[in-house]
Amino acid sequence: MTSIGILGCAGRMGRSLIAAGLDAGATIAGGTERPGAPAQGIDLGTLAGREPIGVFVTDDTPALFAAADVVIDFTAPVAAPSHATMAGKTGKALVIGTTGLSADQQAAIAAAAAHVAIVQAANFSLGVNLLAALTRKVAAVLGPAQWDIEVVEMHHRHKVDAPSGTALALGRAAAEGRGVDLDAVSDRVRDGHTGARTAGNIGFATLRGGDVVGEHSVIFAADGERLELTHKATDRGIFARGAVHAAIWAADKPAGIYDMADVLDIG
Ligand code: NAD
Repeated sequence: MTSIGILGCAGRMGRSLIAAGLDAGATIAGGTERPGAPAQGIDLGTLAGREPIGVFVTDDTPALFAAADVVIDFTAPVAAPSHATMAGKTGKALVIGTTGLSADQQAAIAAAAAHVAIVQAANFSLGVNLLAALTRKVAAVLGPAQWDIEVVEMHHRHKVDAPSGTALALGRAAAEGRGVDLDAVSDRVRDGHTGARTAGNIGFATLRGGDVVGEHSVIFAADGERLELTHKATDRGIFARGAVHAAIWAADKPAGIYDMADVLDIG
């Protein structure tokens, strides 16, 4: 039975991860929150809306790594790199769902992956990972001269990064399909007199509001026709179940950085 530690266990995803871990039959080794967070000391089962499990929220990250076989991080970009470094030092596999990381923060995670297995994904749902694979294939077929690609996403009003990590991953999949570098072709912001659309660019549009869990569309638009691939998440349990599945998968994997396509074997 895999023993899982949950960083950020009182967050929206953290609570869902506790429930998904219990449902998967894993042992919940512990959970951490920021020092002084209101959830400190609360039973993790209670946090997840379940029966108490006798495991309580702490701010002791080293103790969590010591107690768990594998650790899951859905916290914040400022915290995820130090968690990856700790995974590298302790040899405990890590699953990272936190999005919005800078290039420096991402480099710290890559460095830790030289010492331990890290699964990192902007989206842990099966549907979105299939959407990325489809996007890559469709973009390889529909050429940039006739077909414009736009990625549209909507999330709840509390989300702090934009475009979403998933939208960027879908843009990257489209760019890979076309054999180009996303950074060289992405239109992340449009405002004012932008001029006409540049052929071959991949555009992003971000909507925020209400309690939307996550919606992503990749739109391929040509003269006279349009192909739209859409995924709608209605329950963040899908991400939590995917992350727990990734954690159980990663526990005995050699050092390296893996994504959900590796876990689901749909690469
Ligand atoms: P949230 O704000 O509800 O939860 C984050 C929690 O982490 C908070 O409770 C916060 O107190 C805690 N935290 C922050 N720093 C910490 C630290 N150093 N140690 C321990 N706990 C710490 O946010 P959320 O909606 O749960 O999302 C968290 C992250 O996961 C975001 O980056 C979000 O974009 C990402 N996310 C990814 C996926 C995916 O499938 N990859 C899905 C949903 C959300």
